[in-house]
Amino acid sequence: MSRRVIVVVVVVVVVVVVVVVVVVVVVGGGGGGGGMMADNVLRKKRDQGHHECEVLGCQGASEAEESGFAWRNCNKNPGHPNFIPASDFSLTDLPEKFRQPWIFELVKYVSARTVRLRVGYISTARPDGYCFSNFRGQRVPHFGSGIVSTFGFEIGPCPCAECGESPSPRQPWYKIMVHTALHVVYNSEEARATQVSLFYDDEETCSTNSKMKTIWGAKAVEIPDGGDFCFLTCVTHDRQLVEQLQLADRQFKLALSMSRPAGHSILRRRLNTELRKLCVMVSHPHGQPKKVTVGEERSREKADSRRHQFHYIYSTDTCPGSSGAFVILADSDLSVYLPPSMMWGALHSTGGLEGGLNKSGWSSPDIYGT
Ligand SMILES: [Zn+2]
Ligand SMILES: [Zn+2]
Repeated sequence: MSRRVIVVVVVVVVVVVVVVVVVVVVVGGGGGGGGMMADNVLRKKRDQGHHECEVLGCQGASEAEESGFAWRNCNKNPGHPNFIPASDFSLTDLPEKFRQPWIFELVKYVSARTVRLRVGYISTARPDGYCFSNFRGQRVPHFGSGIVSTFGFEIGPCPCAECGESPSPRQPWYKIMVHTALHVVYNSEEARATQVSLFYDDEETCSTNSKMKTIWGAKAVEIPDGGDFCFLTCVTHDRQLVEQLQLADRQFKLALSMSRPAGHSILRRRLNTELRKLCVMVSHPHGQPKKVTVGEERSREKADSRRHQFHYIYSTDTCPGSSGAFVILADSDLSVYLPPSMMWGALHSTGGLEGGLNKSGWSSPDIYGT
């Protein structure tokens, strides 16, 4: 009898242990899966060194919620006191010594052309040791910023993904060129996994979807000799989107002609030394609606002795998500800003320099290298 009791007890104990082990493995493993995903996001954030992409993709929250969480819990600029919502930006947000109507108009114009990038894939072609190289072949998304450089219409059937599946592709179509940092979009493989959001000015534009437009990348071309610069080509048949860009061009030209002192051209004039230090950025920190930050150029490093190219170092605030944003330097040849010129200038590349300073990829002070 007692032997039977012992056998029963042993069997019961074994069953209980098996059940406990199964519960621990299943429940613990499930929780661990969510944890692993969050770890993955954290590991990708760290895999970029001092570059400033935002990485989102934890389970259990929408990207918008996660972006809001990242914004509220930012370590680099807690509270973001110097980040002005682009739709609220006014002349008085410029420090007094830089408070000139044409500078304000230029910031508004750059703002209208600033885009947010969501890159959904890391190419296997990223070299060892390069930003995000430990995430080659993976689909944890990262966010950066960029600027529309040129746009124009093309003849023939639209090559966008939507038209590719349609028996009657739309025509004409429009090619929109975007400049961003190479570490944000590395090649055409990544370009095809990149969503470009234009006119993402505030939460309202996003929720009502009346103004914000999202298009897909198609091709990316790296500028030879590095410089952390990438030409991203996007295609769309959305005429309204192109008209919004044309409207910003016209408004800028008109505002400039009115704000310019009578009989005095702002183009190619020598700015006084103090004014030449101005450095403004419009970017999408943490993947949020665009924000304006104002600071000063502190120094520049020559990038290549054969060329007239520099990395700019500035006090202008940046956050993860600012990578690839256009850096407005009053030192530039101002004629490059005038539509239909190609927008040209430095693009934000890295943060975390000594003294809280940030740094661009290399660029010429002006496109002509004069
Ligand atoms: Zn921040
Ligand atoms: Zn199309």
